[in-house]
Amino acid sequence: MDRKRVSNMQDTIAAIATSLGVGAISIIRVSGPDAISIVDKIATSNLLNKKSHTINYSYIKDGEDLVDEVLISIMKAPKTFTKEDVVEINCHGGIATTKKILELLLKNGARLAEPGEFTKRAFLNGRIDLTEASAVMDLIKVSSEEGIKLAMANLKGSTKEKIRLLRAKIIDIISNIEVNIDFPEYQDIEVVTTQKIKDLLEPLKKDLQEIITNSKNSKVIKDGINVAIIGRPNVGKSSILNKLLGEEKAIVTDIPGTTRDLVEASIYFDGLRLNLMDTAGIRKTSDQVEKIGVEKSIQSIEAADLILLVLNQNEALTKEDYELLDLTKDKKRIIVLNKNDLPKKIVLPNVEEDFNLVTTSTISSDGLKELTAMIKKMFDLNKIKTKDFTYVSNLEQLNRLEEANSLLSSIEKGLDNNLPIDMLEIDLKEIFQILGEIIGETYTEELLDHIFKNFCVGK
Ligand code: GDP
Repeated sequence: MDRKRVSNMQDTIAAIATSLGVGAISIIRVSGPDAISIVDKIATSNLLNKKSHTINYSYIKDGEDLVDEVLISIMKAPKTFTKEDVVEINCHGGIATTKKILELLLKNGARLAEPGEFTKRAFLNGRIDLTEASAVMDLIKVSSEEGIKLAMANLKGSTKEKIRLLRAKIIDIISNIEVNIDFPEYQDIEVVTTQKIKDLLEPLKKDLQEIITNSKNSKVIKDGINVAIIGRPNVGKSSILNKLLGEEKAIVTDIPGTTRDLVEASIYFDGLRLNLMDTAGIRKTSDQVEKIGVEKSIQSIEAADLILLVLNQNEALTKEDYELLDLTKDKKRIIVLNKNDLPKKIVLPNVEEDFNLVTTSTISSDGLKELTAMIKKMFDLNKIKTKDFTYVSNLEQLNRLEEANSLLSSIEKGLDNNLPIDMLEIDLKEIFQILGEIIGETYTEELLDHIFKNFCVGK
């Protein structure tokens, strides 16, 4: 893929890089072939002959009028974020002034940058790969400290390095196979045996699965855990929600993302974010009683990472309780036996040890600490090493990794069934390609290069 062909790279783009508001300074970033000449048109000092990586004092002018006193950083290609000429104007932070300068830039030939376009250019110009590009996006979006650590780890390219390593391993295997097929008379090249391929594939699979697991965990760190509190009416769902909100000094927020419509509030505790999902039970107010039935729970159950199934331990299980137990049996789930200040009448269908079980009372606050501790244990953040943590952050990349993983499994099966090795090679090449796409690298040339370099088979 010729990265440059993909986008309209001749344009010089401009955008306000800092958040719009009243601050000490605002920065307007300009990138592209005409960055310096466009800014020069609206600056009082001559920028055309300035050296690269210098900061220049100037005024911004609109015809005869002076708009602002500014510092202009000039960074010439290729040692810039986008690998293009980049100019940054540090101006005084007023909204009106900043917008005015941007407007002048647009009038003088710059185009307003699309969201993420500077980063996109950095990728298209080969300065960063796709995993790093997503990391930049993450860094802009994440709020928690752990999330920032994760994004930084990715930004340093640790994921890219890991995936490169995996690809190198695949190339080794493919090269071995190809040499065997094309040059069977070569005695000095080790003959590829099924067992050897199996041995080579095993660590590959382990690494791949580690990245997949990490990617799933990183979602929990960055986006929080979607928790659905479900149960039939009057078991105490709203009371538990309110207790959680109260006890944990809740910050109620709007959560962007696919489950936005379902999320009612988020609470933070010990670096973990719980997105409490709306069910009719949560919405219930004293004058508007909305009964939650099995039907209504289904949607939130599907979108949830964790289910809190609340049962009233003062009553025997009802048909609806059984249905909810059954509906959630394959999900990560905690059974909350509420109202333990009242006599216990419930009898669970299995032995209690089979469940993640917490007994609570929203009146005495009994068991609520145990509940949050159990949640924390189930999503053990301490186990997630944020150093050397390799993951991919977008869903598409994660899906591709899963695809590569299932291809690996089918190769292993093929080996067990003694399929011809050159048939398996096709799948290996596919995995190589998928991994390449994830980090935005190309396929055939690189593969051929390696075969040539490592084996010199044509000589
Ligand atoms: P929801 O319909 O599941 O959301 O249940 P609510 O939270 O509205 O509670 C229903 C009723 O049970 C209310 O009258 C609560 O005061 C009461 N309740 C909730 N939790 C407890 C508890 O732990 N013990 C007792 N005795 N009553 C509770």
